[in-house]
Amino acid sequence: MKLFECLACSQPLYFENTSCESCGRRLGFLPESGVLSALEPAQRSDGVEAWLALAAPEQQYRFCCNAVHDACNWLVPAEADGMPVDPEPYCTACAHNRTVPDLSVPENITNWRRIESAKHRLFHGLLRLDLPHENRDMDPEEGLAFDFLVDPPDPSAPRIITGHDNGLITINLVEADDAKRERIRVQMHEPYRTLLGHFRHEVGHYYWERLVRRAGDNSETMATFRNLFGDERQDYGNSLKAHYDNGPPAGWQDGYVSAYATMHPWEDFAETWAHYMHIVDTLETAGAFGLRVKPRISRGEELGVRVDFDPYHAETVEQLIEAFLPVTFAVNSLNRSMGQQDFYPFVLSPAAISKLDFIHQLCRQAREGQPRMLQGAQFQTTFGTAPMLQANQPQIETVAEQDMTEQTTVLLTVASQLALDPVA
Ligand SMILES: [Zn+2]
Ligand SMILES: [Zn+2]
Ligand SMILES: [Zn+2]
Repeated sequence: MKLFECLACSQPLYFENTSCESCGRRLGFLPESGVLSALEPAQRSDGVEAWLALAAPEQQYRFCCNAVHDACNWLVPAEADGMPVDPEPYCTACAHNRTVPDLSVPENITNWRRIESAKHRLFHGLLRLDLPHENRDMDPEEGLAFDFLVDPPDPSAPRIITGHDNGLITINLVEADDAKRERIRVQMHEPYRTLLGHFRHEVGHYYWERLVRRAGDNSETMATFRNLFGDERQDYGNSLKAHYDNGPPAGWQDGYVSAYATMHPWEDFAETWAHYMHIVDTLETAGAFGLRVKPRISRGEELGVRVDFDPYHAETVEQLIEAFLPVTFAVNSLNRSMGQQDFYPFVLSPAAISKLDFIHQLCRQAREGQPRMLQGAQFQTTFGTAPMLQANQPQIETVAEQDMTEQTTVLLTVASQLALDPVA
């Protein structure tokens, strides 16, 4: 993520800030421009609370409905003074919420705010990647929607399963409870379990449906997917059982980003998708800080990097990997200095990078199809059918392992050697 600053007083800001710690001004996020703007109250005759954003003073804005719960700081354009107003204006991110927990329960509010914080970071990434994300109003059958649910009080009743089903993402509120989530992480032998990771993983399932399945069973996209990730038509239930009975296959690190990714091609895709989002967001943050890595060791040149490109619009996946590996080496080392677990407790194998490259290409295709999405109904026929997509878009050609640059190969070797001695 980029760095924000108060447009009134230049105070550095976090994405989640709702007011400036220095000048006290209210802050709101403008999703169209990706700016966290300082605000001034707008003077109106109709009594509607509206704001002028210093970053976009020509338009009045209102806060998303969820701002009253301190769960959102995003803005929506306000209606003109005196015109009928939407009683429930929801921002681009919150317009996807189908169910939120009972907010009369204090614990639910605390946990839901954490969930919203992660969800807004997810949407920031989706907007930066220019990915389509119709909600259920726009696509009632398969639009992207969220249910944030609490386990029933009866311990014998079925638990809420965090997962994805045809565009609907369910998150169990328990995942927002740090102690409980950490207990699950240890039980599941996972090196990493976060709310943001859940969102990025589950939305990966949505984009598989959206960008791979909808391309068509006989499409080049599907053939490339099956070639890299395996045949997703294998029985999911059997795969799940086999994974929990037997664990991941020996040597899984050579082919997958995580042990969970070995379970089924869908999970492999979702895990790899999440890593892609982790990587581009981390690199954007590193670049925003002007982070430059140049280790003071004899191989420091090989492990050096400066992020001077836009990771969300990187040319190639190698460009991302060659920047990301040195950053992870540095930040993992910083974390170890603080007695924390590794910031990125994973090793990227050449096979995993080929899968990341597939996702990189998918995002590019989706982005290049995006202008047609803005034409409303035409989008459904143009983007949703494989032949048109293929006629207008380049075919996905993923990077072969032997095509990787020398720099990437050197970095991967160093990274895998470092990972031989993990902290956790
Ligand atoms: Zn300020
Ligand atoms: Zn909102
Ligand atoms: Zn999954």
